[in-house]
This record gives sequence, C-alpha cells and structure tokens, in this order.
Amino acid sequence: MAKATKSKKSKSTRKRHPRSMVQRKNTTIPISVFDNVMKQFDTAARKLKLDKSLLEFIKMPRRSSIAKLPVRMDDGSYQIYTGYRVQHSIARGPAKGGIRYHPGVTLDEVQALASWMTWKSAVVNIPFGGGKGGIICDPQKMSEGELERLTRRYAADMIDLFGPDVDIPAPDVGTGPKVMGWFMDTYSMKDSHVTPAVVTGKPIALGGSRGRAEATGRGVMLTVREAAAHLKLDLKNATASVQGFGNVGSVSALLLQELGVRFTHVSDVTGAICNPSGIDIKALVQHVAATKSVLGFAGTKKIRPKDILYAKVDILIPAALENQITEANAHRVRCKIIAEGANGPTTPEADRILKKNGIMVIPDILCNAGGVTVSYFEWVQNRIGYFWPEEEVNRRLEEKMVAAFHDVLNMSRSNRTSLRIGAFMLAITRVIEVVQMRGIYS
Ligand code: NAD
Repeated sequence: MAKATKSKKSKSTRKRHPRSMVQRKNTTIPISVFDNVMKQFDTAARKLKLDKSLLEFIKMPRRSSIAKLPVRMDDGSYQIYTGYRVQHSIARGPAKGGIRYHPGVTLDEVQALASWMTWKSAVVNIPFGGGKGGIICDPQKMSEGELERLTRRYAADMIDLFGPDVDIPAPDVGTGPKVMGWFMDTYSMKDSHVTPAVVTGKPIALGGSRGRAEATGRGVMLTVREAAAHLKLDLKNATASVQGFGNVGSVSALLLQELGVRFTHVSDVTGAICNPSGIDIKALVQHVAATKSVLGFAGTKKIRPKDILYAKVDILIPAALENQITEANAHRVRCKIIAEGANGPTTPEADRILKKNGIMVIPDILCNAGGVTVSYFEWVQNRIGYFWPEEEVNRRLEEKMVAAFHDVLNMSRSNRTSLRIGAFMLAITRVIEVVQMRGIYS
C-alpha cells in the first residue's frame, strides 16, 4: 500500500469540536455527552429502587469497537479515518442505531448515542437493543466516490459485528439512504446473497420502507400534537422555531405547519433566519435543496444562530446536535414545549432550569423515536419479504408513538417527575424485566 500522505483534511478531522464545551466559572470545560446519559439514567434508576448490580449491568455499553480506516482519495493520496461502533445493549433484541459522519464524532458521543438507542427502543416497545456508529469525517468536503469507499471500508472492517439478528445500522447526521445502500451491498457480498435486513433507511428500491425518510419528523409532529393537547395549546395559533433543517428538522416543520403551526425561526449549519409572519416551510425546503442553505430565503432576515433557541415561540425544536441547551443558556429559553428532534440537545443541568421555568421537554428518547420505530417496520418487511403501503406504515407509527407518549406521561405523572425521567424509568423497567428473565449471560 502506498504511504499515507498528510493532507489538510486530516488536520481538520482531528480538531476538537466546539459543541462539546461549556463555560463554568471562567473556565471552559468539555461536556461529556455520555456523562449526560449516565446522569439521566442514575436519576431514573434511583426512583425505581431496583437491584443495583443489575442496573449497573444494563447501564454500561456492552462493546465498543474502534477501527482505523484507510481510504484512497480522488487525488491519489490515502486518508486514515477513525470509525466507531458501539453496541450498548442486546437484551431486548439486536443492537440498533445509526451511523454518523461528522468532524466532531468522538467515542464518548457514540457511546451516549448507543445508550439512548437502548432506552428509545424500549420506550416505543420494539424488540431492539441499542447501538450507534460514527466516523470522524466531513462528508460535505468529500466526493461521492470518497464517501462510498469510506462506507465500504467501514462496513468491511467491522463486518463481523453486524447482521440482521446482531446489529442493524441506520442513517444519522451526515448519512442517508445512499450510504445505507452501499453498506447493505458490502455486507451482502460477504456471503454472496442480498441481505436487506442488515441495515434500515435504505432506498425503497433496495428494500427500504415507505415512510422511513419522514418517520422521525412524523414522530416529532405526533408527540408535539399529543403534548399540545395535554397542555391545551391550540396548534392553529401556535408559533415555532427549529434548529437544524436536515431530515428531522425539515420534516417536523413541514408536518407541524400542516397542523397550523407558524414557524418564525429556522436555522441550519450555515446560519439562521426569521420572519415573524411565518416562513413557508415547503418553499424553504426547495430553497435549501437548490442553495444548500436556509440563508437568503425570500421574506426572511438573517439572525444570530443562537437566537433560534431564545425566540419567543410556543414550540422549540432542536433538531441538530447535542448540548445546545446547557446551564449557560437554559434561562434564556422562552418557549412552552421543547420537542427534542435531535439526540441529547439538553444537558441534565439545563433540564433542571427548564423544569423550574415550567417548560415541558418532550425528551429525545420519546420525541425522535419515530425513526427507529419505522426502522423496525422496515426490518420486519425485509424479513417477511412483503412491503406495506405508506398509509399502513404511518398508521402503525402513529399507534406506537401515541401509546409511548401516554405511557411516558403516566409514568412521569405517577412519579411526579419530568417526561425525560419518566421515559427513562419506563425504558429501564422494560429492559430489566427482560434481563431478569434471561439472566446476565447476554
Ligand atoms: P441531517 O444531517 O439530515 O441534518 C442536520 C441538520 O442540522 C442540518 O440542517 C445541518 O445544517 C444542521 N446543523 C448542524 N450543525 C448545526 C448547528 N451548529 N446549528 C444549527 N444547525 C446545525 O441529520 P438528521 O438526520 O436530521 O439528524 C438531526 C438530529 O436528529 C441528530 O441529533 C440525530 O441524531 C437525530 N436523529 C435523527 C434520526 C433520523 O432518522 N435521521 C432519528 C433520531 C434522531
């Protein structure tokens, strides 16, 4: 193999990502996303009064794998990427969770995301455990050929970890149906037969499910609808702000707009825009498809990206990355409902401030569980070899999300706690039940 050449890209992928820092007493310290999940788990576990050793067993990730991934770039050089796969739990079924391509990926983050997947699958009561993968890379700066070679290298290197009954990836930030198609093809070639159920979020022609691309956003809409009904908030007169306008953010906004919600603030990685009279989300989707940015959309003015979180709206949807609402800025949030489209946008310290200020947080492990729910439906359809119409997928998704919302609401009300801790309590109870029946051999 030719010697790896140093390039500017390799430097940028090693850079620490700013989103993992918080200012405390004049010092900037990193926020560990995995610590955040541990704190959420511990708070819920304390209320459950279950066997401490079993709780410890289900809390920690089962296996974390790190791989060095050499990839030939278009200019002939070799770039060495780092890839992770974490299997947090296989107690209730195969590990399940997306693969993230982002310059800020860390093992800490992937472990946190894998752990949230375990609790999320249990909240919506599907027979999956939790897993997550990630590669430190910047997909925006890579050609399609480079992305394909990186994906195939990752899949091939970790191939023994995956399988329809073992560990099933899906898309996350920076990945989508195309990447899932390459992953499925690489895995399938191992045994020379097509294995669509090894991955979900595939293109429909490769065995993807109708409704999967919109499923996470649809789940966000459904949980906001239920929360609004509970709070007696009329969605036809409600306003909203969304941070992140990718798969989750744009679909959540589109579907909520269909229920009458007026979006006044939208942001993506390029910047933030505002129009107090309301932003036409359908037209904005087309604008972003054409320009790759929300900026410059007709009738809007540019605002500071952080102001997206502080807008005086009824509903705030963080749908980008973790650690956006922290102890440093939670007091500036002025909405009635936070719908966590993203995983881990709110730290435990921020949760306490939001609760004090009477803000309802629909936690990530409930709010964005529509994605994994329809991933489960995709896996089921792959295994039976028969595909459902979109209306059936959406009907089944609605059934699951509405049931999960009310299960979580009941758990949190009967324990006088937040929806987040209620959701963790519900999920831990379901995982522990299985572990007690199976024993700890798993
Ligand atoms: P995506 O890559 O499609 O979109 C991410 C969006 O966030 C983009 O618009 C990007 O420009 C924006 N963004 C990135 N950094 C930002 C910043 N600092 N400020 C504002 N915007 C920023 O990803 P996605 O699939 O929509 O995932 C978004 C979040 O939802 C992630 O936390 C992911 O883990 C979570 N999630 C995704 C799914 C899914 O099915 N895709 C399911 C559950 C949870």
